[in-house]
Order: sequence, then C-alpha cells, then structure tokens
Amino acid sequence: MDSAPSVTTDERRRALEQVAAEVAVCTRCPLHQTRTMAVPGEGHPDTEIVFVGEGPGYNEDQQGRPFVGAAGSLLNDLLRQIGWKRQDVYITNVVKCRPPGNRDPEPTEIAACAPFLERQLEILDPAVVVTLGRHSLQTFNPGARISGAHGTLRPVDPVTGAPNALIYAMYHPAAALRQGSLKQTMLEDMCGLPDALLESRKRRGFVPEAVIGLEAEPLIESEQVSESEPIAVAVGGNLGTMLEDVIQVDENQMSLFR
Ligand code: URA
Repeated sequence: MDSAPSVTTDERRRALEQVAAEVAVCTRCPLHQTRTMAVPGEGHPDTEIVFVGEGPGYNEDQQGRPFVGAAGSLLNDLLRQIGWKRQDVYITNVVKCRPPGNRDPEPTEIAACAPFLERQLEILDPAVVVTLGRHSLQTFNPGARISGAHGTLRPVDPVTGAPNALIYAMYHPAAALRQGSLKQTMLEDMCGLPDALLESRKRRGFVPEAVIGLEAEPLIESEQVSESEPIAVAVGGNLGTMLEDVIQVDENQMSLFR
C-alpha cells in the first residue's frame, strides 16, 4: 500500500490555485508582455494522470485555459476513445504564456517557467506524465526523439518535480491535425495509456481499489529501468485501423484517482 502521508483534495486544490495565482501575474520572461491571459493549467487535483503540452495557442491565450482550441478537441476525443474524461486528468503546458504567433518556446522561456511546472507536479504527484510533443518530451527526457519515444513509458528525472512518475510520450495533437496519418498513431498511443497507468501504479506500490474489469497486465515485464531504455511500448501497429471500432471502454472502468 502507498505509505506516503495523505494530502487532502482541498489541500491539493489550494496549492494548485496558489501556483495559478502566481502564474497569472508572472513577469519572469518576455512572454508576459504579449499574453492576453496566462494559462496555468486545469484538472482534477487527485488525478494520477498529467498531460503536459507545449504552450498556449490563440484560443488558450484568450480564455486562460489549456487545450481549448482544435488541438484540445482532438485531445478530448482521444480521451473519450479510452473512456476517460478531460475533467478527470490534469492538463498543463511547459510554458504558461502564449509564444507570439505560436512559435516554439525559447529554451530561456522554458527555463523561466519550469519552477511552475515543477511545483504543479510536486503537488499532484502523478503516476504518469503524458508528454504531448517534442518540447514537452525533451523537458522530461532531454535528447529523446518523439518519433522513437511515442507510445513508450520511461523513467523521469526527479528534478522535474515528479519523482514517482513515469513519462508516457505522445505526439502533439496539433501535429496530428497537420498530418492526418498521425491521428491513428495518437489513438494507438492513447490506447496504451491505461496499461501505462497500471504499470506505474505497480512500481509505486499502489494497489488500486477501483479498477473494475481490467487485469493489471504489464505491457512488458521489466525490473531493470534505465534512462535510455523504454520500460514498455504501448500498442503494436498491427491493430491498425481496427482501433476506432474496437476501443469501446466502459466509462467507469478505471478510476484515475489515487
Ligand atoms: N497547444 C499546446 O501545447 N498547449 C495548449 O494548451 C494548446 C495548444
């Protein structure tokens, strides 16, 4: 059983609100000069799953909420495909303010914003951090390439704030909107996420009480975890186009909460 001292939902929520309040008035990098609203992140304070994107786009900057544009709709659809709800996970970004014209965030901007992400991860203590896209992946696994890493589960450097989490890499939904063939890849990777959560829980010594109807089969047995080797690869490409029809998961099948 998990022997970590228990933190209440309210304590987590308040701590996340405190980070959000600081993000809202942050002037640590030049992105604050061009933002409409900062976008701290949102989601369930007790969740075990945190999605980390790159940075807010136009719609997010207008609304102060992450992934509310076209990329967000695709993310929501992918979550629905595995029977998960957006409000049951936490969604945030590597940088909390929109890079002008949706350019890539600069390394200095990522570094300036890193303490916020670190604190969010410390508060949430997730089992799985899902990186969306290259910039997010490289925040947790410097040097990793998205083409090789997507759909795999890897250990995370504790300095990122999530010492007990595993990283599960996915393409960025915006990339799938630009290149249609990646949608199927993203769907296959998303379908590996429930098993990734079970694998991470097992490593954390957490015995889930609310997993109904899912056998806790690891993706690949492995006791040796190295920085460079993936622990597990999600779903073989052989499922191919069947996935869209096949993945019908009962909405209440799996609890995402500790
Ligand atoms: N792209 C991101 O990386 N993050 C968002 O919040 C929206 C689009």
